Amino acid sequence: MNKRTFIKLGSAALTSPLVSPLLSWASGDKLKNWAGNIEYSTDQLYSARSLDQLREFVRKQTRLKVLGTRHCFNRIADSRDGFLSLKEMDQVVALDREARTVTVEAGTTYGQLCPYLDSKGWALHNLASLPHISVAGACTTATHGSGEKNGNLSSAVSALAIINAAGEEVTLSRRQDGKTFQGAIVGLGALGVITRITLEVQPRFMMRQYVYQDLPLSELKAHFDAIESAAYSVSLFTDWQNRNINEVWLKIRMDQGRTLDAPPELFGAKPATRNLHPIAELAAENCTEQMGVPGPWYERLPHFRMGFTPSAGKELQSEYFVPRLQAMEAILAVERLREQIGPHLMISEIRTIAADDLWLSPCYKRPSVAIHFTWKQNWPAVSKLLPVIEKELAPFQPRPHWGKLFTIPPAQLHAAYERLPEFVELSRKYDPRGKFRNDFLNTNIFGALA
Ligand SMILES: Cc1cc2nc3c(=O)[nH]c(=O)nc-3n(C[C@H](O)[C@H](O)[C@H](O)COP(=O)(O)OP(=O)(O)OC[C@H]3O[C@@H](n4cnc5c(N)ncnc54)[C@H](O)[C@@H]3O)c2cc1C
Repeated sequence: MNKRTFIKLGSAALTSPLVSPLLSWASGDKLKNWAGNIEYSTDQLYSARSLDQLREFVRKQTRLKVLGTRHCFNRIADSRDGFLSLKEMDQVVALDREARTVTVEAGTTYGQLCPYLDSKGWALHNLASLPHISVAGACTTATHGSGEKNGNLSSAVSALAIINAAGEEVTLSRRQDGKTFQGAIVGLGALGVITRITLEVQPRFMMRQYVYQDLPLSELKAHFDAIESAAYSVSLFTDWQNRNINEVWLKIRMDQGRTLDAPPELFGAKPATRNLHPIAELAAENCTEQMGVPGPWYERLPHFRMGFTPSAGKELQSEYFVPRLQAMEAILAVERLREQIGPHLMISEIRTIAADDLWLSPCYKRPSVAIHFTWKQNWPAVSKLLPVIEKELAPFQPRPHWGKLFTIPPAQLHAAYERLPEFVELSRKYDPRGKFRNDFLNTNIFGALA
């Protein structure tokens, strides 16, 4: 844990019946997001340890935001007034073998949950590139992994408990609350404080991960479907130079009757001869095991290992979801910008995600391909480049990742989300006076419709 991570409460605060201020933002550091590119607008950070504390705290505040693990790159989590952390509420509430679900408190991270699930014989369907993020923060922003048949992480949610603006706990389930449930799951933190989440689980499985290098773009164009369905989860990494996909990561399940051995060549791409980082020049020690070494699902589905800094660290990220059917056209549209993109890029990743029925999910009713950019941390340059990329992708109605950087104007966002007016209505029911809103939500979601 570095200096920027949450500092534990002192023992006096732990025994307090009240929500406690996290004492030590006092080190002189400003409260920032994980990447350090966002300095939050207040240092007021409170920690709750029980439902009663939470209800009481929410009732009394006029405005607040919940802070998860701070992995968003934009101001979606920001507050001018005060933050609530549920970091201390990280217990598994129930593992229901019959229903095949696990319920966790909202402060739980995937890094905490996955080894527990695995030890009990269960698994999640998919994971993001890293396990360090909170389940609640990931699901409320529609965080995703890869795999043609795999929905994003919020598609595994089967029930949710939320404290609304009045301080009342409301529970919602896929089975009983149909429409409301579909509206509330990707809630962008706008409906209230998520206290518990129930996720669907399946029997644990083993995987092998293989990396291939140098897939010609022409081969990707000719065999996109075959490449994307070559494994349970496929990630393409490219720097857009030389009409080349630098690395193809195949994550193969060992329980689905697939051939265990990876092909000696993948449409011209050659198997790597050692573990690789997505940016081949960086050391691979923070990456999950490759070279076909069998391992449990939670140590192969993410690219990065728990206990290490994921990705590159000092970076920015953007990501756009386009329809799966137009994947190659969209990829080639970005590739045309390679000279402008090159100087500012660390690496891009291309992933597929199945469609879902969650109103504000970027994959709502749309099998999708997500084109991701890890940028050098130079916002003045990146902020000029994003509108250029967005213009090039405009014919494909791009939906940006809610937790990453984008400059798509609100009107265009609204056009891309047909259920957004209903979402606004729903959030007014939970939060009539905008207790859980912030500048990001007011601009991008509530602006035109407030
Ligand atoms: C290195 C790195 C790799 C990443 N890889 C991926 C990836 O592979 N795929 C992908 O899709 N994304 C990825 N992301 C983005 C990340 O998954 C999202 O930003 C996610 O939202 C992070 O969760 P968090 O808890 O850190 O969110 P935060 O930034 O803390 O909060 C995000 C939002 O969730 C809300 N929130 C959090 N907890 C609660 C709660 N209990 N109740 C109500 N609202 C809540 C906050 O108010 C805020 O609106 C990556 C980010 C980083 C830094």
